[in-house]
Amino acid sequence: MQPRSAEQERLLHRAASAVGGCLGTFRLPDDLAIVIARGSGSRVWDTDGREFIDYVLGSGPLLIGHAHPAVVAAVQRQAELGSTFYTLNQPIIELAERMIDAIPCAEQVKFVSSGTEATLHAMRIARAYTGKPLVLKFEGGFHGVNDYALMSAMAPRPTDYPRPIPDSAGIPSEVEADVLVARWNDVDLLREVMATHADRLAAVICEPLQRSLVPAPGFLAELRELTRRHGVLLIFDEIVTGFRLAYGGGQERYGVVPDLATYGKVIGGGYPLAAVAGPAEILAVTDPTRRGKAPFAYLSGTLNGNPIGAVAGLATLDVLRAPGTYERLYATTERLTSGLRALAAERDIPIFVAGDGPVFQVFFTDAPVHDYPGVLKTDRARARAFGLACVERGLFLNPGEKFYVSLAHTDEDVDRTLEIFADALDAIA
Ligand code: PMP
Repeated sequence: MQPRSAEQERLLHRAASAVGGCLGTFRLPDDLAIVIARGSGSRVWDTDGREFIDYVLGSGPLLIGHAHPAVVAAVQRQAELGSTFYTLNQPIIELAERMIDAIPCAEQVKFVSSGTEATLHAMRIARAYTGKPLVLKFEGGFHGVNDYALMSAMAPRPTDYPRPIPDSAGIPSEVEADVLVARWNDVDLLREVMATHADRLAAVICEPLQRSLVPAPGFLAELRELTRRHGVLLIFDEIVTGFRLAYGGGQERYGVVPDLATYGKVIGGGYPLAAVAGPAEILAVTDPTRRGKAPFAYLSGTLNGNPIGAVAGLATLDVLRAPGTYERLYATTERLTSGLRALAAERDIPIFVAGDGPVFQVFFTDAPVHDYPGVLKTDRARARAFGLACVERGLFLNPGEKFYVSLAHTDEDVDRTLEIFADALDAIA
């Protein structure tokens, strides 16, 4: 990779001063930091014109690639018609109907602007509907950055189940008392925690694919059965898996239907949009005419149901529902992951590639990884070093974290990526 120009160095300097050098928690080390100028298909370019094959994809929304012509055209048309109305508009009604057709649990959809809001509202709706205070989540599960979600999502040590470990300073300590934590893929512990707390438990929230950790055979079915038996709502956080693992998301992929599901990323086509989907009877707790008469869960937001996000999402779903799309996403990812496994095996570097569909993550370990304590046992410094070595060689990714693959990634991208994987493995050997 060419060194950065003096202009980009100056931009990074301004960024350090103006925005603290990053926008959230994603921050490359100073020597690898870049300012992105544009994206197209599977590629992004920095302000020096240096090209990267992109496996961040905006942290997941861009399942059909950057600046897809159909999305750009739809957004341009809608921008001329007005960007936001704070009330009903045709594109958002169409997107809701499209989601209802695709998603097994969706009879109705309530829109918000970010995934963090979607999970916040799903949990609030569940408490309002059941009249119970607690939510159970799984260790290592990330559901955005609201106070209830940031519990045992990325703790540096295993959780003392079912008491959560807050992932952030500044969360009121009272919140901890309303969150329980169990271990992903551990049915016995789940049974025990649920049996003990069922009378106060409103909901269990999980991703059907926890980050990159697949559900063990029967785990989601058992979770569905337990929640039903105890009168607890099951919330699938499909912000990543929705329209990605299949057109009908994780529910379709794994054949388990939750009560509520949260959406974000793909449904907004790269623009801010997220949602809670579920039965009309449950979502009715957000009906503002109930206020003062029945349990009412407050849901509102300035940009909720934004028509720009809706048309971008509709254009994205149009592309995704064409025949062969998911076969292609799975095949591209399979070439990347089997290629990487072979390269590591040739070098005697033990790795475990986790994931399903067009999402994968590389763990440096000689044991399979099924849960968060398993993640903690992997060589995470080595995973990060591998990721950084890939960035230096022209892949844009979040080192040590998930790779997102898109429909825009070509065979040529895969070939080039595998060359870079080989060099990066040599560099860290
Ligand atoms: N849930 C999951 C599973 C996510 O991966 C994310 C974002 N990475 C969120 C929720 C939060 O979404 P947002 O960043 O839009 O708030």
